[in-house]
Order: sequence, then C-alpha cells, then structure tokens
Amino acid sequence: MWAKVLLPLALRDELLYSVPQSMEGESKVGKRVLVNMGKRTTYVGIITELFSDESSLPIVDFELKSLLFIVDKDPLVSQEEIEFWRFLAFYYLVPLGDILSLAIPSRALPRGTTRVVLDREALSSYQLANPQEEKHLEKLAQSGVESISFTDFIALLGRSAAPLFDKLRLQDILQDEETTEVSSPPVGVESYSLSSQYASQEALNQLFLLLKRATAQKQILSQFIGALPIDEEEKPDLKASVPLAVFCKNEILQRNAFQRLKHKIPDLFRCSYKPQRVLASPSLKEHKKRDYAIPSYPLEKQKPNLYWATDDLDQYAFIASQVKATLAQGKRVLLLLPQSSSPEGDEAFVRPLLSLDNEPIAFLTGNTSQKEKLELRKTLRETSEALLIVGSRIATFIPSEGLGLIIVAEEQDVYYKQQEPSPRFHARDSLIYRAQSLNIPFLMTAVTPSLETIYNTRLGKYHLICHKEQEPILPPKINLIDIRREREIHRLKRDKIIAQALQQKVTEVLSNKGKVLLLAARKGYAPFLSCSKCGESIRCHNCDVTLTYHRYREQLVCPYCGYTTLVPKQCPHCLQNGDPEEGTLKKRGFGSERIEDELQHSFPHAKIVRIDAEATEKKRAREHLKEILLSKEADIYVGTTLISRFTSLQNIKLIAVPQFDLLVSYPDFRNDEQLYSLFLRLSRRFPYAEWMLQLSDLKHPLVASIEQNVPHEVYDTLLAEREIFHFPPYQRLIRIILKGRDRQELEAASLIFSGALAQEKQAFLEVEKPFEPFVSRVNLLYIRHITLRLNTQVSSQYIRQRIWDIVSQLKKESLLCRKVNLFFDVDPY
Ligand SMILES: [Zn+2]
Ligand SMILES: [Zn+2]
Repeated sequence: MWAKVLLPLALRDELLYSVPQSMEGESKVGKRVLVNMGKRTTYVGIITELFSDESSLPIVDFELKSLLFIVDKDPLVSQEEIEFWRFLAFYYLVPLGDILSLAIPSRALPRGTTRVVLDREALSSYQLANPQEEKHLEKLAQSGVESISFTDFIALLGRSAAPLFDKLRLQDILQDEETTEVSSPPVGVESYSLSSQYASQEALNQLFLLLKRATAQKQILSQFIGALPIDEEEKPDLKASVPLAVFCKNEILQRNAFQRLKHKIPDLFRCSYKPQRVLASPSLKEHKKRDYAIPSYPLEKQKPNLYWATDDLDQYAFIASQVKATLAQGKRVLLLLPQSSSPEGDEAFVRPLLSLDNEPIAFLTGNTSQKEKLELRKTLRETSEALLIVGSRIATFIPSEGLGLIIVAEEQDVYYKQQEPSPRFHARDSLIYRAQSLNIPFLMTAVTPSLETIYNTRLGKYHLICHKEQEPILPPKINLIDIRREREIHRLKRDKIIAQALQQKVTEVLSNKGKVLLLAARKGYAPFLSCSKCGESIRCHNCDVTLTYHRYREQLVCPYCGYTTLVPKQCPHCLQNGDPEEGTLKKRGFGSERIEDELQHSFPHAKIVRIDAEATEKKRAREHLKEILLSKEADIYVGTTLISRFTSLQNIKLIAVPQFDLLVSYPDFRNDEQLYSLFLRLSRRFPYAEWMLQLSDLKHPLVASIEQNVPHEVYDTLLAEREIFHFPPYQRLIRIILKGRDRQELEAASLIFSGALAQEKQAFLEVEKPFEPFVSRVNLLYIRHITLRLNTQVSSQYIRQRIWDIVSQLKKESLLCRKVNLFFDVDPY
C-alpha cells in the first residue's frame, strides 16, 4: 500500500510514501502521520490518498520512504476538506501545502524544527498517563532536557511517542518556545533581541560605555532600544525582540550584542491569546423545545442567496431568523462576520446583535489560540450537536460535519479577501464553492452589496431575496465646508483640520446629548515627517514608503515591515549633504491620532474614543475598546473606515468627514464603489444624523449621489464604468506579484515572464506590461506586478495549467527567472 502525504510546506503536491504492512489497517485518508523528509527531519503530515494497486501509482525513479507512525486514531480531516483544499490550491494558484498551513492549526502539524520547552512542574503533576506513556515520560524526565525539538523528541522516545507530543502540548506540559506575544514580529521576518548578558539596564549602560567611540554602532543600538515595546513601567522591554532587517550586516552583531532569532514555526495565525472557549451546551435540549415563530424565506440550494437588507437591523434580524431555524433543525451554522476580529466579534456583542439567548455559540477568529482552534476542530469532528460557529475569514476552513447553512454577513466587506500573506483567497467566494459541494444553502447579506454580487444577481446566477418592501428612506442632510476657502482666508491654520463651522456643530450636538462620528482617512498621528528646508520626507530603509509618525512613543514606524526608529533631531538628508542650516522636521498630514488630539484640545470635557487598526489589533487595546463600547459612554468616535464594521454605536447625531478629498483620491478602481457604499451604509444606520463634509470640490459627484438617494442608479453608473474600462465583474483578472532583491534583474525577469505569457493568445485577452506598484519595495524586496485579463471563453483549468507550465518552464531555463519569487493574486479585488 502507498500513501500520498501532504506536509505544511510550500509544496505544490503531496509526497508519496510506502505504507508498511503493519500500518495498512490503520491507514486512513485524513489521519496525521509521522514521516521523514530528507535525511533526518521529522514531519507530521496528512494522508490525502491511499493506493493499494501499484499500477495506479505515479511513476517515481527513487525508492520511496515509508510512513513511520500513524498519529491519529480517527481522521483529523475529512475527505470533503481535502477536496476543498485542492479546489482552493487550483483556483488561487497556490501550493497545496500552503492551504494546509492555513486550514489546520500549526500546532497539530509539528515540524522537525518545532521547539518546545518542558514544564517540569506540570509534568510531575500529570495524571492521565497509560503504562506506555509513563515509560516515555520517565525517560523524558530523566533526560534532563529543558527544551527539545520535535525531531529529537521522536529520536529520544521513538515514533510511537508522536501522539504524546500532541497530548503534552495540549496540557501545556510542552510549551511552544516562542510564545505568541502581542509584540511578536511578522511571520518570516528575522528578528533580534538583546542577548541575555545585556538584557538589563546596568549591562546595557556598560555596553554603551564600551561603544563609546563606535558612533555608528551606538546609533544602531539606540535605534534598537527605541524600537523595543514599552513595558508596564513605561520602560523598554529589554527581553523583547524586534524585526530589523537593517541590522543584518552590522558589525555590532559580531560583538554578540544581538542574538539572532529565527522563527521556527510559520505561524500564520500568530495572534495574542484570547480565551474564547467552545461553549458546552447544557441548554441545548431546552432551546430545541422553544418555539420559534420564524417566517420562512426559503433559501435556494442550487444558487447562492443574497439578502439585500434595508439597514443593519433588517440584515441581522434576517440572519438571526435563519440561524435559529437551522439550529432548531439540529444543524450547524457557520456565520462569517467582518467584525469578528475586532472587539465586537465578542460574545457580549454577537448575542444581542442576533438576539440569541442560550443557543450554543463557538468563536473562531484570528484571536483564537492555536490550542482552542485544535480543540474546536476535534469537537466539531467528534460531536454532532447543533452549534452556531461565528468566525472571521479563517473559519472558512472549519470541518463541515453537521453543517446546514453558511452565512456571510456584509458580503461587500474587503476584509473577506486575504491580501498578505499568500494564499490570497476570498472567503465569500470560497464558501460559495464549498456550500455547493456540500449541497447546503449559502446566504450572503448586505445593505450595500458589492458590484460583483449585484451583477451576478442581475444575471440570475444568485438568488435575490428582499422580503421588506424598500421603504422610502429620506436622504441625509449634508452640509459642505469649502476647505480651500477656509485655508485661503486663514480661518483654518495649516496644523489644524477641524474648520470653525464643524467645531460649532460638534458643540451643538454634544450639548444636546448627541454623539459624533468622525471619519478619518488614515490611522496614526501624522502620516509622515518632512524637512522644512529640503522638503524630503523620512523613508523606510527596507521599503519604498515614508515612515509613519507615532506620537506616544516618539517613533517612526514602517507600516509594511515594522522597521522602527526614533525621530531624528535633524533632517538626515540635510545632515548628509553637509548643509549647515539644517531644516527642522515638520509633521505632515492628519491621522486619526492627530485628529483625536485636536478634538480633545477643543473639547476637553468630551470623552473621545479612537477606533482604528491600532485600537483593535493588540489584545490590551482591544479589551479596553470593548469596555468603552459596552459602557456606551463615549461622546465622539474618531475612526478610520474600519468604523463601519462597528454595529454597536448609537445615538450618532453628526457624521463628520474632514478629509473628504483624501478619501476620494485613493488610487483603486473600487474606491468610488467602496466610498459610496460606506456613506450609504452609515446614512442608513444613522438616519437622523446630520452630515458635515470638508472638501475642495463642492460639486463632487459622490456628494450628489448620496443626496439623490437612488442607489440603483448609482450602481448602474458604476457598473457601466467598469464595463467600459474592462474591469471586474466584466473581466476576470489574475495579478502576478514578482519579488526580487535586485532591481534590474527583477525588471528584466518581469519582462521575460510577461513576454512569454503574452504569447498565450488563447488564454489571455491581455497581458499588461510589468508595472511598478504604488509601494514598490517592501522588506528589501523590489516588487513588480503583471496583470492578466483572462479570456472567460476558455476553461479556468486550461488557463491555470498554462500559467503553471509557462512559469515553471521559464524557471527551469533562465537563471534570471529563478531568482524571482512569484505569487499569484487571483481576482485581485
Ligand atoms: Zn532637509
Ligand atoms: Zn519598511
């Protein structure tokens, strides 16, 4: 017997192993197995296929290795899931192994290099051992190891200890060496921490003395200290690590001041710990007995269903009725919410939002720990109770046992498309496919559906449900402030953003106990610093972007690679040019933080809450925001467009948009659609709110279309524009992302790739010339894009096969092409 085994590596296909006779009975598709890859590295992979007939085997010209050990008693993964992964790998042009890494918690698939630390105290109180485990544990305790890699663990205790490794990690007796700290650097980036001998303030002072004359090294060290996260005593956390590619070649490393750390686990889900257990369901029987008077709106199974809601209340009421009806049938529901990874993804918000009482809910988001993800997977596979699973994008990959309905709320939200890292999959589209192959209904809901969905509804591909007559809704009252005039007559100073009229309006609203929502265009304080003399801005060493100024830490941070540095005293450009009259660095632009500041200054007694990526990313900030939202005490909410995902805001009487010009100038073909959709959604959510826009073009068409309040006409216009300019949904696109260290080489290779693809006249209507994206260098890698417009008359199978063939052929033939890394972004919108 032979088995195909899928490993969590960026491999396009599975690897073939032979199955020893003794394991034939146990071998099943979906079980985890222990295998060797290379000489000695041990991996855990998943059996995806078994062959008993030699003639059906793929031909290989080397001797196959055999499976070492079967880890699971029951398959961890179903055949359906494997088929789904295969489809995603095919459709999104990504290695199957990458899908596995995303779908299964990395904790379940240790690699040879996975290192764990042994907690002896926990080990001594471990009770649940059987005789064989006891033997292993004894050996482990005697070995005297503190930390051990998976390969060494297996070498020490034998193959049969693989399930024990799993078990001990679940009990936290073996703990991952790198804890999932909030401040941990992005995946795959090398990071540095102070080596232990210098990790105290005293030793550090010594080091600075030592480096007295080594100015450059001292500077790097200061930069490093400046980049460290701040601990509770407002001091830099000397034990933390910082991702800094810029330190790579520095001599200071040779003095052993820095210790290189490499991330062992490609932990795609690296996020802070958030305890959100699967709720046991003691009340399950009780809730089945309850009689739900649910009006039935039959969902179709053959087609995806779109519920086009009039407002949020309507949208979530419809979702709730469908959830309850499905649970009452004893089936499970998967519900994706874009707010899932924000503080509002919490049970405290979701239950009231869907008016659920004691229905069992499980949560699966980026904030769920690896351990909880694994527990949830096992629960879903092994039990059959009805359950609502509320999740973020990542919940696309849950086991499908007992699933009766899949819902994607706010289907237009860009959140559903993963951008970085690969695989760049779209959760909504992937789940449409999955629901169809599971033969269960798929429901998406929106107040402002995406153009793609509207288009598909018009074509009859999607089934449209509108149960409420679209009641006539009054258009919002919009006031305009001519920002250019305000600046010209100097009523509005350069370092301020809130015009007088807006100030007055805020005062008026606050005195009437109303609340204000202010939409900022960007997060952070000032988007960048620039020199008053030479006009240069301070840019990232590793990326082609300006560094964002963060006021609280007095630091400049790269939004792409995380490079962090202290704010220099003088302009480095002037300094470098030996200019004696150096310019000073001025803060340019307004981020949410700076606007918050200005408001706080003008309204010292108002409680202002900022809602942007920063306020929702880190655990502590998220908890804090959650409390404020629940208390409903805020007077003014300042937020980026992210704020539209927050459904709990109430009593908003003023919506202010001080940076309208910046919002409409964002270079993306979807920008018009997204802004219109955002404004329409907000105007539906807060029908009694007055609007105040600060802008320079008082006749901007977007303002007119909000005031006219006829969404269908706007969608018609937007769709017509897309058709004229050959954009989706009228055309399908694949973007190839090319990355390379050398600019010239990358450029040359990009031309070779695009030239070869352009020969393929049947598959592509157009192959665009390699294009330098807006951010053209990240983490020391230059970037180019090639956009392919697909011929929809040709099968997607054929198109993808041609792309793979051409790319792999070129990589084989040309050294230049081999040096470039290729990624695909299918449907890049
Ligand atoms: Zn300068
Ligand atoms: Zn950078």
